[in-house]
Amino acid sequence: MPPCPECAGAYTYEMGALLVCPECGHEWPHASGGSGESGGAAEERVIKDAVGNVLADGDTVTVVKGLKVKGSPSGIKAGTKVRNIRLVEGVDGHDIDCRIEGFGPMQLKSSVVRKV
Ligand SMILES: [Zn+2]
Repeated sequence: MPPCPECAGAYTYEMGALLVCPECGHEWPHASGGSGESGGAAEERVIKDAVGNVLADGDTVTVVKGLKVKGSPSGIKAGTKVRNIRLVEGVDGHDIDCRIEGFGPMQLKSSVVRKV
């Protein structure tokens, strides 16, 4: 049982849908009842490309502007096609995980690509 939210008493017990603290008499509903609430409230994160198309795993996109790449003199040119992207919880807005020919694995910002 969780401790009492009022007095932090450890001797709480269940009474139907409520938890009860015998020390201060506080009653409160189960935090994780299980039944009743629908659950699965996980929000779908929507990632959009430079023009507002919604992107999905496996999409093919093109890069809309030239990107500098560490260790590459030319970088990624605008118009470069990127196949089979994967949407990720990226660092610093880099929400696309992909592999670009000639560059290898790479993370891009969705704002610099356009769905094909
Ligand atoms: Zn209490």
